[in-house]
Amino acid sequence: MRDRRTRTLLRGLGGRQVSDRQPAGDSVGTSPGDPARDAAGLRARWHGKRVTVAGLGVSGVPAARTLKDLGAVVTVVNDGDDERARSQAAELAEAGITVRLGDGATLPEGTELVVTAPGWKPDKPLFLAAAEAGVPVWGDVELAWQLRGPDAAPWLAVTGTNGKTTTVRMLAAILRAAGLRTEAVGNIGVSLLDAVLPDENGREKYDVLAVELSSYQLHWAPSLRAHSAAVLNIAPDHLDWHGSMEAYTADKGRVYEGNTVACVYNAADKVTEDLVREADVEEGCRAIGFTLGTPGPSQLGVVEGILVDRAFVENRSAQAQELAEIGDIDPPAPHNIANALAAAALARAYGVAPAAVRDGLRAFRPDPHRIEHVADVAGVSYVDDSKATNTHAAEASLAAYDPIVWIAGGLAKGASFDELVGKSAKRLRGVVLIGRDRALIGEALARHAPEVPVVDLEQTDTGAMSAAVRAAARLAKTGDTVLMAPACASMDMFVNYNKRGEAFADAVRALAAEHA
Ligand code: ADP
Repeated sequence: MRDRRTRTLLRGLGGRQVSDRQPAGDSVGTSPGDPARDAAGLRARWHGKRVTVAGLGVSGVPAARTLKDLGAVVTVVNDGDDERARSQAAELAEAGITVRLGDGATLPEGTELVVTAPGWKPDKPLFLAAAEAGVPVWGDVELAWQLRGPDAAPWLAVTGTNGKTTTVRMLAAILRAAGLRTEAVGNIGVSLLDAVLPDENGREKYDVLAVELSSYQLHWAPSLRAHSAAVLNIAPDHLDWHGSMEAYTADKGRVYEGNTVACVYNAADKVTEDLVREADVEEGCRAIGFTLGTPGPSQLGVVEGILVDRAFVENRSAQAQELAEIGDIDPPAPHNIANALAAAALARAYGVAPAAVRDGLRAFRPDPHRIEHVADVAGVSYVDDSKATNTHAAEASLAAYDPIVWIAGGLAKGASFDELVGKSAKRLRGVVLIGRDRALIGEALARHAPEVPVVDLEQTDTGAMSAAVRAAARLAKTGDTVLMAPACASMDMFVNYNKRGEAFADAVRALAAEHA
């Protein structure tokens, strides 16, 4: 970890420049406490600025409207030209915003800044043209960061391959239990722009924000500086977008840049610790680890079923502070305890008292389809972890049960299943395979768990999940868990993972009704 003073020193010595950020667009960039960030200052800075918004959609439409309200000259470009896009374009046109449909590749003449939807891939011609013209590109997160009011709430940021939503929700619950005005925002449904803009009386709406950030959003957020941030874990995902594991990891690591109080890492995932070491932070910012084992100094961990803090206590070489019990966490699966520790670390970095950590964790309820217990039928427990859309997530939930009848399969997204199956083989009572890429899992099972019975379901129609649940019920014995943690995306058979989870729950409830 390098503080800013060290970086200056390195530069002075001709050392490697630590930060390779793209230009942040200094002409409109501002810093906290800067009077230019009050309403009048913002207007003056944005008035007449020619901004291109790339992509109609959840972030593009509000970004275009907000910038227009600030006096910018806004053009929206969009690849698609369907009915929905046309009706959105008509509404924006009424507000005085130009929309170009069917051409998201050409950079409009005179553009001074591009604000992009986070999902747009960096190799798009629009961005190449922007780079050539020296025009900065911001994502939705960067825009929100730049539009914060002068007394803006600090950000406690969370990223990682898996566990982000759960962790920011736990964090928000803890902050709320401490009496703070807060919201879980970012890559999570609630609009970040809305959260950072002051209310109509110019007052901040929140004291502090729990911000979930995806790797895409971090890629396009060159000047974001969180109060504290956590990287929960790093496993291969979205590599087609980032181009390589190195690029994906580097984008995740950006969350630590400029942290002022704490960089929280996973002691069981060396990559996250390495990212902290690489980060360029404010002087005095601390590296804080979390572990499922006994914590060392400057770590949070678990001792005899109790979550303890050896980081934010006075005498951390000899003392630890009790925060909560494992039983306070729902569900108390190992990866979820890790999520709770990361949330607790960020809250403690913000100065939250131990009792609020416990109360917040007790108040927290997981979102649907994340290790959700659906029902017990004939002595067998049925669990919906439809959100386990990659092998890293599925590995975590498979580690939480024993013995398991596993329902798996769908779209593999280029993943290999050997490691997952190898690690989980001992716990498997049986496996039911569904979806387009199920043969890949079947082959891994044949290699690493040849004795485990496998039911291969060809069916992909609406009745397929019901057939899978029935096949699983036949394989299960009393005391087993039927776990739907597919390790794959759902879109080959379902609209999304929510629908897949609902189909599973419906099938389980139908089975329960037959046994009632
Ligand atoms: P994200 O927002 O990163 O997708 P979620 O909190 O929605 O994460 O959890 C997604 C899935 O990832 C869960 O259903 C669970 O299977 C798995 N998961 C959650 N937390 C972790 C973790 N810390 N490590 C590994 N897998 C996890």
